[in-house]
Amino acid sequence: MAASDKIQVLLNDPNLAPELKSIAQKVLDGQRVTFDEGVLLYEKGELGYLGVLANFIRERKNGDKTYFNRNFHIEPTNLCVYDCKFCSYSRLIKQRADGWEYSMEEMLNIVRKYDDEPVTEVHIVGGVLPQYDVPFYTKLFSSIKAHRPDLHVKALTPVEYHYIFKKAKIDYSTGMALMKDSGLDSMPGGGAEIFDKEIRDQIAKDKCTSEQWLEIHEEWQKLGMRSNATMLYGHIEQFKHRVDHMERLRQLQDRTGGFQAFIPLKFRNKDNQMSNVPEVSVIEDLRNYAIGRIYLDNFDHVKAYWAMISRTTAQLSLNFGVDDIDGTLDDTTKIYSMAGAEEQHPAMSTKELVELIKQAGRHPIERDTLYNVVTDYNEFVFPDAAPKPHFYKLPVVN
Ligand code: SF4
Repeated sequence: MAASDKIQVLLNDPNLAPELKSIAQKVLDGQRVTFDEGVLLYEKGELGYLGVLANFIRERKNGDKTYFNRNFHIEPTNLCVYDCKFCSYSRLIKQRADGWEYSMEEMLNIVRKYDDEPVTEVHIVGGVLPQYDVPFYTKLFSSIKAHRPDLHVKALTPVEYHYIFKKAKIDYSTGMALMKDSGLDSMPGGGAEIFDKEIRDQIAKDKCTSEQWLEIHEEWQKLGMRSNATMLYGHIEQFKHRVDHMERLRQLQDRTGGFQAFIPLKFRNKDNQMSNVPEVSVIEDLRNYAIGRIYLDNFDHVKAYWAMISRTTAQLSLNFGVDDIDGTLDDTTKIYSMAGAEEQHPAMSTKELVELIKQAGRHPIERDTLYNVVTDYNEFVFPDAAPKPHFYKLPVVN
């Protein structure tokens, strides 16, 4: 049955509440859902209903296409001057012995390790420390680009940028232009957490404010550049706070059109200062993806990190608005595993990712960071004997 026919079934259901029918009709007509309707979806929308609506939008925007990329992470340090209550990753500076602090050379060595690999993106994000400042990062980005010009550098969040620009006494606009000139290609979506001030003050008090997070993205996007946006959910926030978060993103996107993907991040409670807060269920994860897809009508993509939510839930999410399950990772990130994610050594070969997507009845596409198609895997047959499929190699300057 076509996705639109499924909405018709909802509209003809005598047992569905009139206010939910009205939202279903709006979705069918391509109209925007209001703030109050967003809260209503969280309060009253059952999983099946939300899935029908989200899947209709997903298929209207992206058909069956499901994206992934070939990437690796560099996490410069897990020490941090901040002390976010939900963070399982960072060790405060006083616990320096438990942490790592990569030098410039160590980070460039990680990049060199991938010289013969057909990766398209390096994702750089970690804790905040004084030695990682504007001169350090501009040098790092330009060195990576000098070594491998076509490797897309997706790096740092407004949390780091606010800190290093303040230290360097430069405004956001000057700072982001400097980063662009140094080789930064795009910004990941982290550090957004939850925008409501009362909740943010309780879980991430000292780092950049919501307004600063949004302003730094806006300055970056005004340069014609792209970024992503996350939302940390399932902790002490209420439904209205999630809708408020998405509303602020939707408004900025109306102005700039610079966001590519919305990435809901599930709060995990292992080894952090909020371990007493229970985690939400997988049902709530799927409801949340679906409502994100319905609410953010001006975002092209909704992404689920398979390494964070498990392979099975990632497959399920493809029916609840998600069209991107992130990358191969190659076990280069500790952010998910240290927070208690099911995947303790996240790495999947391209073949595994493709099979995962096909098993869910979707059409696998390897993308680059900007959603250009690298390889369409719908009809692709992997040679049995070869350990790796043949890809084009990115140019390397030695
Ligand atoms: S969430 Fe980020 S800014 Fe906050 S303590 Fe952890 S690493 Fe530092």
